[in-house]
Amino acid sequence: MTETSRRGLILINTGPGKGKTTASFGTCLRAVGNGMRVLILQFLKGSWHYGELDAIEALGKTFGTPDDPAIVIRQLGRGFVKVGGAETDPEDLRLVEEAWSEAAAAILSGDWDLVVLDEINYAIGYRMLDPEKVAEVLRKKPEMVHVILTGRNAHPTLIELADTVTEMREVKHAYQKGILAQRGIEF
Ligand code: ATP
Ligand code: MG
Repeated sequence: MTETSRRGLILINTGPGKGKTTASFGTCLRAVGNGMRVLILQFLKGSWHYGELDAIEALGKTFGTPDDPAIVIRQLGRGFVKVGGAETDPEDLRLVEEAWSEAAAAILSGDWDLVVLDEINYAIGYRMLDPEKVAEVLRKKPEMVHVILTGRNAHPTLIELADTVTEMREVKHAYQKGILAQRGIEF
C-alpha cells in the first residue's frame, strides 16, 4: 500500500563507506530550500573546524534571520573519544549525555522540521548512549518532524524503527592509498 500523506520520517545513514554525514547535509540543503527549519547536532565532534560550520552559518542567516537562523549546526563533543568500557573518559560520557538531552528536547519541541543527529550511532556503538532511550524519544516525536541519524554500525533497534535506512558501502577510499583527509572533501 502506498502511504501518500505527509509525515515526518526517521532516516539512518550508516555503513563503512564515506558519505553518511555529507548525505545528511544534502538533505538539509533540500529542506532549508523548502522553507523548513533544520537543526544539526553533532555527537563526539568538536575539535576540528569543518567548512560546513561557516557555510551553514551563512545559509541560516540567508534563509532565516541572524537572530533566528533557518539552519543551525552545533558540535557537542570534543572531536576525539577514548573508547572501550571502563576506559571511557567520564568527560566524554558527560558530553554525550548532555548532547542527548539537547537532542531529545529539540526533537520533542517541534521547533525544528528536521533534526540531524550526526555521529550518534558511534556514541551508541561505544556504549555511551542507550539505544532504548533514543528509540523512546523517536517513537513519541511530533508527527511532522524528520530525524536523520548518522554513523557506522547503526543499532538494530533503531534500524527497525527507521523508515529509510541507507548503508554506505566502501568500494575504495583514498585513505587506503595513504592520502590524508583533504580540505573541502573531508573537512
Ligand atoms: P563524510 O563526513 O565525508 O560524509 P562519513 O560521515 O561517512 O563521511 P565518518 O565515519 O563520520 O564518515 O568519518 C568521517 C571521516 O572519515 C571522513 O573524513 C571520511 O572521509 C573518513 N572516512 C569515511 N569512510 C572512510 C573509509 N571507509 N576509510 C577511511 N576513511 C573514511
Ligand atoms: Mg560522519
